Amino acid sequence: MKELIEDIEHYLRFYQRSYSAQLRLNGVLREIVWPEEGQKITKNTGVPVVKSFNKILPQRSAELESYYQEIKNCTKCALHTGRKNFVFGYGNPNADLLFVGEAPGREEDEQGMPFVGPAGRLLDRMLSAIGLKREDVYIANILKCRPPNNRDPLPDEVAQCEPYLQRQIELIQPKIIVALGRIAGQSLLKTSDSLSKLRQSVQMYQNIPLLITYHPAALLRNPRWKEQSWQDLKKLKNMLKSV
Ligand code: SF4
Repeated sequence: MKELIEDIEHYLRFYQRSYSAQLRLNGVLREIVWPEEGQKITKNTGVPVVKSFNKILPQRSAELESYYQEIKNCTKCALHTGRKNFVFGYGNPNADLLFVGEAPGREEDEQGMPFVGPAGRLLDRMLSAIGLKREDVYIANILKCRPPNNRDPLPDEVAQCEPYLQRQIELIQPKIIVALGRIAGQSLLKTSDSLSKLRQSVQMYQNIPLLITYHPAALLRNPRWKEQSWQDLKKLKNMLKSV
């Protein structure tokens, strides 16, 4: 039993370090909560995953969970045939800030979580730079299933899947939406404008201010864009002050 507890502890610490302090167990989003500093993890104290967001956050969390259950087996488009996991979304169901990417990549498909792996860790650092943690925001994609070889979403796939995101937005009621990357911005706004043009002004999506910035994976590939990304983050920080 002691070895099993140690293995679980190591796994959770690794998971939290690599991804986040939240994970989904039996369909319920939970937060990893550790015993007090210095308190030894034992059979009794050492069940670190104890907080259910359904308990600590009101109504909308349960509604999101129920919506997840409703759509998680979707077969509306061909992408369902290749998915390992349906990637619903992740984070604080009462968040003021919603990040939207285009679609799950390989690691997201493996984990069933959006923005994991190196791009997710960079997103965490971007959040930290403006005083936020992943637990403060909600993160989702336009498509819930991974396109083969990470190709761009097809218009038909976006048309089939976008209503799921729109319903998530109705349930979360964010004050600001941030589209991560050109494809996410173009797909939401139904435009072919370049990212540099999309970044120039705050748009609206479902009557909510929409900011469009670089995808963290693009920043990893092209670090010279980080300065412009920082400008976008500062704009976001200012916008958050007024919501
Ligand atoms: S991408 Fe969206 S519409 Fe297509 S199967 Fe997945 S959940 Fe359904």
